[in-house]
Amino acid sequence: MRWGIVGGGTAGPAAALLLARAGHEVVLYERVENPLPVGAGILLQPTGLAVLRRLGLLQRVLARGERIERLSGHTAGGRMVLDLGYADFREGLHGLGIHRGALFAALWEAVGAEPGVEVRTGHTVEAREETPAGVVLRGLHSDQPFTSEPFDRVAIAGGARCGIRPPGARVTPYPWGALWFVAHENPRPGVLAQRYRDTRRMVGILPSGEGSVSVFWSLRADALEAWKAAGLDAWKREVAALMPEVPIHAVRTPEDVIFAPYFDVVSPTWHDGRTVWLGDAGHAMSPQLGQGANLALQDAAALADSPDLASYSRARTDQVRFYSFASRVLTPFFQSSLPILAPARDLVAGPLHAWGWYRRQMVASLVGVKTGFFREMAIPE
Ligand SMILES: Cc1cc2nc3c(=O)[nH]c(=O)nc-3n(C[C@H](O)[C@H](O)[C@H](O)COP(=O)(O)OP(=O)(O)OC[C@H]3O[C@@H](n4cnc5c(N)ncnc54)[C@H](O)[C@@H]3O)c2cc1C
Repeated sequence: MRWGIVGGGTAGPAAALLLARAGHEVVLYERVENPLPVGAGILLQPTGLAVLRRLGLLQRVLARGERIERLSGHTAGGRMVLDLGYADFREGLHGLGIHRGALFAALWEAVGAEPGVEVRTGHTVEAREETPAGVVLRGLHSDQPFTSEPFDRVAIAGGARCGIRPPGARVTPYPWGALWFVAHENPRPGVLAQRYRDTRRMVGILPSGEGSVSVFWSLRADALEAWKAAGLDAWKREVAALMPEVPIHAVRTPEDVIFAPYFDVVSPTWHDGRTVWLGDAGHAMSPQLGQGANLALQDAAALADSPDLASYSRARTDQVRFYSFASRVLTPFFQSSLPILAPARDLVAGPLHAWGWYRRQMVASLVGVKTGFFREMAIPE
């Protein structure tokens, strides 16, 4: 079949590679003219790493990222809220902190070398149209309108802000997002460490490979202008007070810090006619559980394995629904204007770790294998 794929972030290139290797012809559209490896660190889970192994990219990303053994979260006063080790799930298991740019570079290089994939950069796809001959994509290329040839199937992987959504999808910008910056030193090797001051302040350090870390600071989207106006020094003091080991001196100008907003995209299904949705375009969620890129990679694998698009939607339902729901429920406990939630979190979450069942559920959620409250899948081989 001839496939058109919209979006060259995570899900798009992964799907392009797997479909081409299954014998399909693929055209990949990316709106950026010269895509560059940029972006904050992300945490890849064993589920996402399994897809990268299938793509033949595992050794490459392992070499660029840093193995993450634990997730640890404490209040400003030092009370433990989260302390989960991948080894608690299975000995030898780990996550991988990696710059999004390094993951992107690995996927793009592979796509560029894949004979069955044609890449069309600088193409912003604005609409799809189902015609008797196939699905036609329309949009802009160098400010000029273009219309594609008809495709047998189309996959939309345009990310959280994509303009083409599944039927019935609800898109809600989350009021909070994150400031992030990169520092080239690593005070907490192997650990994704977070600190919280009620629900309105959170800082996190994610080791991201090659001796660097990505630092995240929780901020309301509508407070961004006030943050800029207040100047860097006041903020740097606040960060250092909450987590002294943050290498805040790496920030010299406001341009060193980037704001990333969050979106919730909830959809009843991820296919319509001959079109299918992958990744954030169909199910964006806050990154509190660190699953978005992993789900996007697993979408690509499921698409390549599904005999038809309805089977794909069915195959993705349980896991995506669980993480989408869990992110919406849990995020306000860590990033919200509801500080009233913090005392319950701080009182209960730490002691609950001593209860084996709770610990197991939390670790399974981190690993990425939950498909329901009482269900989990195996990590793909
Ligand atoms: C601050 C932050 C931290 C995060 N941390 C984690 C983490 O630790 N772990 C994790 O798994 N996930 C994390 N995520 C989520 C993760 O980044 C996303 O879930 C993942 O990138 C989704 O992949 P995607 O392929 O769906 O979309 P994207 O990676 O966003 O790619 C979309 C691509 O489509 C292109 N595009 C968009 N519109 C069009 C169009 N109309 N025409 C053509 N091209 C188009 C874009 O240019 C882009 O290249 C985080 C997100 C944020 C914001």
